[in-house]
Amino acid sequence: MNEYAVRVAAQLRRRYAHEPEYLQCVLTWLEMIDPALDDPRYEKLDLLTRMVEPERMFTFLVPWVDDRGVAHTSHGYRAQFSSAIGPYKGGLRFHPGVTSSVVKFLGFEQTYKNALTGLPIGGAAGGADFDPRGKSDREIMRFCQSFMNALYRYIGADTDVPAGDIGVGSREIGYLYGQYKRLMGKAESSALTGKGLTYGGSKVRQEAAGSGTIYFLARMLEHQRDTLEGKTIAASGFGNMTWGVCRKAAQLGAKVVTLSGPDGYIYDPEGVCTQEKLDFLLELRASGRDKVAPYAQRFGVEFFPGRKPWEIKTDIVIPCATQNELDVEDAVRILANDVGFYVEGANMPATAEALKLLRLSPKILTAGAKASGSGGVAVSALEMAQNSIRYNWDREEVDNKLREIMSGIYDASAAAAQEYGLGYDLIAGNDIAAFKKISEAMIAQGL
Ligand code: GLU
Repeated sequence: MNEYAVRVAAQLRRRYAHEPEYLQCVLTWLEMIDPALDDPRYEKLDLLTRMVEPERMFTFLVPWVDDRGVAHTSHGYRAQFSSAIGPYKGGLRFHPGVTSSVVKFLGFEQTYKNALTGLPIGGAAGGADFDPRGKSDREIMRFCQSFMNALYRYIGADTDVPAGDIGVGSREIGYLYGQYKRLMGKAESSALTGKGLTYGGSKVRQEAAGSGTIYFLARMLEHQRDTLEGKTIAASGFGNMTWGVCRKAAQLGAKVVTLSGPDGYIYDPEGVCTQEKLDFLLELRASGRDKVAPYAQRFGVEFFPGRKPWEIKTDIVIPCATQNELDVEDAVRILANDVGFYVEGANMPATAEALKLLRLSPKILTAGAKASGSGGVAVSALEMAQNSIRYNWDREEVDNKLREIMSGIYDASAAAAQEYGLGYDLIAGNDIAAFKKISEAMIAQGL
């Protein structure tokens, strides 16, 4: 490995030993971009250090009162990672597992995810260790308002544009945006994305993350002279990403046969394809119960408590739930099942060892979330564009643009892999292409 990169990695390990998710994503990335580090300017400008740490980061308390009148204090974060190619941009996650490490890992991934969308957006991420499960609508609203009271002075259309992530959907974005507008005294619509369609949201945003992943997968299949027609997919999770994957896969002739939650997974051999099943998935998520078992009861399919969906033999696997959901044992199972494609929807869904096993195996083609998981933020950027021209494109136009953006990311990843003699390693190719773009922008703008 490049000597300068080794020193940066050692420094990070020392300084951030207590931030495992953040270290994991950055150290893996340093390995991926190694073939592209031969430019002496990188060390001269200490570019790597400036690329792997957030430019600035806020932590704040979020006090809120529950319906019984009891006060609680949650911890809020926003990592404004990189403004090299545009205003900071990325999601907010409300989940009890949110820490500064998780927010930094998400902000880092977001920066490199956003870079290849071709749209002028930097990278950020944020959230709180608030658990939305079982909370009433009024509690959610009060929490969102308090969160925005702390955050509003640091965001804005040209500064930092938050959106949703786990635990933050269109309802939460509505409450956050409403409070932002009250505090600012003006309707600065592109200060948040993922807004409702009646107040500046974009068509296709809701399904964009999952659609984008399927569009990316379609390009990989095309490369193998194959199509989605008749393919089976094992997916995890049952949130927004999973729903979008099921929906777009069904439209293009494939079927998702598994869904999972913290309680286990369901196997639906007919596929999560009908409107009724897709609508039920949305209801399940809105119920806030974090369980996938009710799907099995409703549609009379099998439920496997406490297990993961990777034991089902399919053509394709798409992890869509959360970080490190897939370990070495799962990777070995996926390879033993002769799965042809591993395509990430969630951010960093595999442990470092599991990812290495899959990426280096000649039996399976792999795509990383910084490429195949970009659909959500791509349409967020299209939402910002529509807001700034005060116009709404129709569904077809946004969907076509999304497909073109995903295709562009695929082409850039495949081309960089070729250029650096890495064959069809789309993960390394994507990391290198994004690294080149951001480093060029940083060098051009001076220290
Ligand atoms: N967390 C989401 C993602 O990574 C949303 C980012 C955004 O739309 O700004 O796709």
